[in-house]
Amino acid sequence: MELLTIGAFARASRLSPKALRLYDDLGLLTPARVDPDTGYRHYDPGQLEQARLVAWLRRIGMPLALIQQVCLLPPAEAAREVGSFWARTEAETAARRDLAAFLVDHLNGKDRLMSTTNPLGIRYAALSDAGLVRESNQDTAYAGSRLLAVADGFGRAGAPAGAAAVEVFRRLDTDGIEAMPAGDLLNVLQDAVDQAGRAVTEVATAGPAAEADAGTTLTAMLWTGSQLALVHIGDSRAYLLRDGELFQITHDHTMVQSLLDDGRLTPEEAASHPQRSLLARALGAHPDMTPDIRLHEVRPAHRYLLCSDGLSAVVPADEIHRVVTAPGDPEQAVRGLVALANAAGGPDNVSCVVADVFEPAA
Ligand code: MG
Repeated sequence: MELLTIGAFARASRLSPKALRLYDDLGLLTPARVDPDTGYRHYDPGQLEQARLVAWLRRIGMPLALIQQVCLLPPAEAAREVGSFWARTEAETAARRDLAAFLVDHLNGKDRLMSTTNPLGIRYAALSDAGLVRESNQDTAYAGSRLLAVADGFGRAGAPAGAAAVEVFRRLDTDGIEAMPAGDLLNVLQDAVDQAGRAVTEVATAGPAAEADAGTTLTAMLWTGSQLALVHIGDSRAYLLRDGELFQITHDHTMVQSLLDDGRLTPEEAASHPQRSLLARALGAHPDMTPDIRLHEVRPAHRYLLCSDGLSAVVPADEIHRVVTAPGDPEQAVRGLVALANAAGGPDNVSCVVADVFEPAA
């Protein structure tokens, strides 16, 4: 078969000669022949398909190192790799979109405006229970006028680890939070997460060496009177009940959830996966301590539920929905939810925090 010059191959593949030279240097697309005298590159027409694939992968923004890997894979595996690259890209974009929207509001001075309007109130309750199987309770649940939090400790010093993380946030449960501009609030939260990470690591390493494996999840909401700032790391959850519908507003940081996001597992496979509680992020003994931090606009009649996996992994979603939508105050709701987990065998520690947003009478 006759070889094509780089110019002819560039036209046929719709790539520039410059791009082709770059792909050659990176080992993505090696010319069929390089003239030893002139250094001119020549391509086999059979290489067109790979050249086009490289061009398309560049167009969806795939990094060159990953393109290199994808090009070596058989088509079905390459397809899976492209799918999971895109799923990751969308997840990252969604997180950046939230932050961008917040920054727009912040720069427009919306958060200053909001703090001058009539603040809303919350009614809240927290309940933590060891369950029916575990000997001790390593969960911590807290609810105060400014802070809602659930932590699920793990490892041999799991209980003090979770308590230490919540304790750091509990110091933010003061009225000073109310007047704080949203930008400052985010900084305060990031600082608190860093402090909590250090506090948990300290607890874990202060005890016998065998306890150094301790860490904790943390799902916490700080209440300013008009906004809820959500901090989340691990597989405890926050839900929002709005107009009778229950929305999960946190994303589980578990290995199984990552596989699910990448399309490598079906929801059915994930639900019964033997390692479904393996965390992808946590505070303490974990390489990744990056939290999700978000601000939530709050409306009267919103109800929030924070819980550990002792509820969400044990009780079906429709039963949780039935109890949180039943008439009653937060105290009745948390008691009903813990009772559900224990009625289902209570295999894990279970913690619930419920908070109702209301408009104080003028
Ligand atoms: Mg648990």
